[in-house]
Amino acid sequence: MELPETLNFAVTQMTKIPGVGEKTALRQILTICRWDRDQLSALGRSLINLGDLNCCVDCGFYTDETRCQVCQQDSRRDLGSVCVVETISDFIAIENSNTFKGTYHILGGVLNPLLGIGPDSLRIPELVKRIMSEKKTEIILAVNPSVEGDATCSYIKQEIPDEVKVERIGFGIPMGGNLEYLDSLTISKALENRKRLD
Ligand SMILES: [Zn+2]
Repeated sequence: MELPETLNFAVTQMTKIPGVGEKTALRQILTICRWDRDQLSALGRSLINLGDLNCCVDCGFYTDETRCQVCQQDSRRDLGSVCVVETISDFIAIENSNTFKGTYHILGGVLNPLLGIGPDSLRIPELVKRIMSEKKTEIILAVNPSVEGDATCSYIKQEIPDEVKVERIGFGIPMGGNLEYLDSLTISKALENRKRLD
């Protein structure tokens, strides 16, 4: 059946969210239709505000300011340890495991020559610069195990001065596995059991 255009438009927007099919979208929009004006405008505003989110100038995580919550803490910056992750979701997964007390660096993916993703499409040059200027002593590569992930780790190791310790987490994470979907205990075990790259 044909839905009123207003309803149809809202459902179409909702189905753009990964994992939301048309049926689910319709059900959610029908619920939202019963909300009063204040609730509706709060939802609308919350979405529009997302367009104003900044990325932390250091690690790349989302923030409303210039630096994220983690990078703002002196105790964490002073630690000298940087945990390199692929995505924002991996950052959140590790941070929620409560095991790592240094700062992070989000790459935005892994090297993939076939897709044209080289070091400059990722935040690798920024990482190298940071290591030097902030005098970091240790890098923990929390990059997911895959052929591309392995190549990315080798490339980063090459770019980093030899005096910086470079380690990679691995234990407990299966090939092709993804940090985002692992429980906190597995993540903290993986962080404890890291292997030095040389
Ligand atoms: Zn940050």
